[in-house]
Amino acid sequence: MDLNDNILITGGAGYIGSHTNKELSQKGLNTIIIDNLVYGHPEFVKWGKFIEGDLNDPDFIRSVFASFSIKAVIHFAAFAYVGESVHEPEKYYSNNVINTLNLLQVMREFGVSQIVFSSTCATYGLPKATPITEDHPQQPINPYGKSKLMVEQVLEDYSNAYGLKHASLRYFNAAGADPDGETGEWHEPETHLIPLVFDVALGKRKQIEIFGTDYDTPDGTCIRDYIHVTDLADAHILALDYLERENINLICNLGNGNGYSVKEVINIAEQVTKKKIQTIDTGPRMGDPPILVGSAEKAKRLLSWEPRYASLEAIIETAWKWHSRK
Ligand code: UDP
Repeated sequence: MDLNDNILITGGAGYIGSHTNKELSQKGLNTIIIDNLVYGHPEFVKWGKFIEGDLNDPDFIRSVFASFSIKAVIHFAAFAYVGESVHEPEKYYSNNVINTLNLLQVMREFGVSQIVFSSTCATYGLPKATPITEDHPQQPINPYGKSKLMVEQVLEDYSNAYGLKHASLRYFNAAGADPDGETGEWHEPETHLIPLVFDVALGKRKQIEIFGTDYDTPDGTCIRDYIHVTDLADAHILALDYLERENINLICNLGNGNGYSVKEVINIAEQVTKKKIQTIDTGPRMGDPPILVGSAEKAKRLLSWEPRYASLEAIIETAWKWHSRK
């Protein structure tokens, strides 16, 4: 990347977006952040130039592209609550799919042809084999995963027809926080396991609900592959370099390749926080596959990506440091 280039980050006031903004800025790159602040936090935009606005408005997007020379886009802006997507699919298809079409339309108008897209392991659906590789069938079981798969397919078609180059990065479970404590995981409402467990540790919640203890897994609870958010951020920068260098599309998983059950996560959080975490079994959450563990060998091979945080304990420690700050 050229240091004069502007990288547009949509959703840059959110969790993964703000960490990526920091990493890009530390590399000396100019970032332009757009976010509608529905779920993002202006406090998280500590680097680059922030413009508040919504991707549902093509004229707003045009005004940003007209004001800055944009080299490439990293597109995080999306709704990402699996449970909510089941009950409110329209919200997901319109924000995640239609608004992405708006962004792509304006990119075409301005001749911007590189996009790194936040995709997800939720595009795979129920795993037929673990760890999941990128050629695993994509049969998402919730509207969130479907909306992300639709965008992947749109990107493929736009690539064939218009020469757009995309890197679709399928994240497993993002976790942890900036080790310097400058940004972290903050969702409102909070639905994610690790921050909710911390709320219990801090006395802000009485107990953590365990969503299902009867799954076909060793301890009956769901297994996920947790990856540190700064490692995810690094992969976005490597993906931008890849698009520039190779000029071909890239689809890859980003995970650690290790699965942890909900109960294991809670146990590790108890060790890190040195607090007893009360739990209650409340039955499965709709749309949750029992196991999601990914192989990130492709990302390691093609991007020379090496996650810095291999253990869940190390990941949870950074998250706790941020979450328990005064
Ligand atoms: N989970 C849970 N209780 C909660 C929140 C989450 O048991 O209060 C489980 C959830 O079913 C999943 C795992 O924890 O198996 C991680 O969920 P999270 O919402 O953090 O991320 P997701 O997997 O939905 O991206």
